[in-house]
Amino acid sequence: METTLRGVGVSHGVAIGEVRHMGTAVLEPPAKQIPAEEAEREQQRARQAVEAVAADLTARGNLAGGEAQAVLEAQALMAQDPELMADVDRRVAVGSSAERAVYDAFAAYRELLANAGEYLAGRVADLDDVRNRIVARLLGVPMPGVPDSDEPYVLVARDLAPADTALLDPTLVLGFVTEEGGPTSHSAILARALGVPAVVALPGAGEIAEGTLIAVDGSSGEIFVDPTEERRAALEAAAAERKATLAAATGPGATADGHRVPLLANIGGPADVPAAVEAGAEGVGLFRTEFLFLDDSKNAPSEEKQVEAYRQVLEAFPEGRVVVRVLDAGADKPLDFLTPGDEPNPALGVRGLRTLLDHPEVLRTQLTALAKAAEGQPVHLEVMAPMVADRADAKAFADACREAGLRAKYGAMVEIPSAALRARSVLQEVEFLSLGTNDLAQYTFAADRQVGAVSRLQDPWQPALLDLVALSAEAARAEGKSCGVCGEAASDPLLACVLTGLGVTSLSMGAASIPYVRAQLAKFTLAQCERAAAAARASDSADEARRAAQAVLSGE
Ligand code: PEP
Ligand code: MG
Repeated sequence: METTLRGVGVSHGVAIGEVRHMGTAVLEPPAKQIPAEEAEREQQRARQAVEAVAADLTARGNLAGGEAQAVLEAQALMAQDPELMADVDRRVAVGSSAERAVYDAFAAYRELLANAGEYLAGRVADLDDVRNRIVARLLGVPMPGVPDSDEPYVLVARDLAPADTALLDPTLVLGFVTEEGGPTSHSAILARALGVPAVVALPGAGEIAEGTLIAVDGSSGEIFVDPTEERRAALEAAAAERKATLAAATGPGATADGHRVPLLANIGGPADVPAAVEAGAEGVGLFRTEFLFLDDSKNAPSEEKQVEAYRQVLEAFPEGRVVVRVLDAGADKPLDFLTPGDEPNPALGVRGLRTLLDHPEVLRTQLTALAKAAEGQPVHLEVMAPMVADRADAKAFADACREAGLRAKYGAMVEIPSAALRARSVLQEVEFLSLGTNDLAQYTFAADRQVGAVSRLQDPWQPALLDLVALSAEAARAEGKSCGVCGEAASDPLLACVLTGLGVTSLSMGAASIPYVRAQLAKFTLAQCERAAAAARASDSADEARRAAQAVLSGE
């Protein structure tokens, strides 16, 4: 009999297939006492296992590239955390075996993480995966991981660890379902990057028997266990219709009446370029260069390494537009050698452009590398700074670009309300604006991006956020300049129409979202988008704004 379960849909599309569970059986080593004379050898064994696992994660990262690489490298660092290692040593010294000491030390750390807010709790799966790998290595048993199957399947897991999802074969994995995780978990981010439907936060998913047929609707967040013939037919028909709409909507982004809104891709490095090209991105709207800086926690990457990475991206979009964001370190992306370690509120401290102005040599190397990479290339290079607060910030950045001899357009990200409120003043120094709606929401609502308890205020449909978008877009129009959106808001197809109605001139998002946004935008005229935008702004809450825009666009 068909049963319906509801979670949170985080990646569009419909997948119908048999369940295969992720091999994440927790390996609990026996708690036996070891003689004191074996302690040193056990400590040595633990260290070797940790190093081998860290090396394996780094190697997987190199293979995967892009955002996945950054995630895997973060996991490798987690494995080598000095405090964790010290705890393992302590436990072995009082009689634990290496595997039991690792198991217990990670359990203690896990508890801390699980209670430290939504963002850190989302990293628990990463930590469990690291522990499982080390314990498996010490016990000499196979690593937990992706099921072996030659047939396509729906992957069900408690939560997905980046080490496995990074190497998943999208031709075999029809979709993901996880019991835990949320819209910011790696399962969600990677599902979107792979372009497979996914539902997260679905309690009870782990109990569905291996081999059961399920249908996953990544848009509604529903899954149907043992779906009826009618259900399958209806979902398949809806998916086919959607696919046909997506396939029919090709070419550059535009409204039904031909108002052009370039659709660009957000990337973390050269490895993300093929998916962007495949999705028909008209260029890159946000190249998050901080991923290049994660290899080495003590030094910036050399100029040569940067030139190579930038060149690979620029070459992929001849004649296209590539917007490179200079390093955005600090707050949720700290770098040891740049970020002060003692700030009481890192999100309000020295981060983004502020970090670069304190370390002009890092900015100079980056801009010089960009200038070299762009030499002789037909691409339209644009460079922007994160976390611009006012005109003085914008001027400091533009001056640095000029001093580096960079022939590119210089822009400012609007992520701080002051920059939106005084957008015309900022635009006296730079040629374009790009709205980072993720941080703009954080600072508008005084709601930390990493704290789950305030996630309601992170909803990009909040009318106050839409007001700031409108202010920025109006200022850019008055100055004859452009104003794009590169935060997550741009990847919501309905919101993309509203943003267009607010006067935004380009939309940049993860590659997998581009076909959905393109198709939705093509259905409505600019005037309809403007009416939807006005209705959303006239609302008093995010939900109301969403409903109001939907009502206008569906002609209710
Ligand atoms: C943003 O803040 O919206 C943005 C695009 O930057 P990031 O998510 O990298 O902080
Ligand atoms: Mg930001």
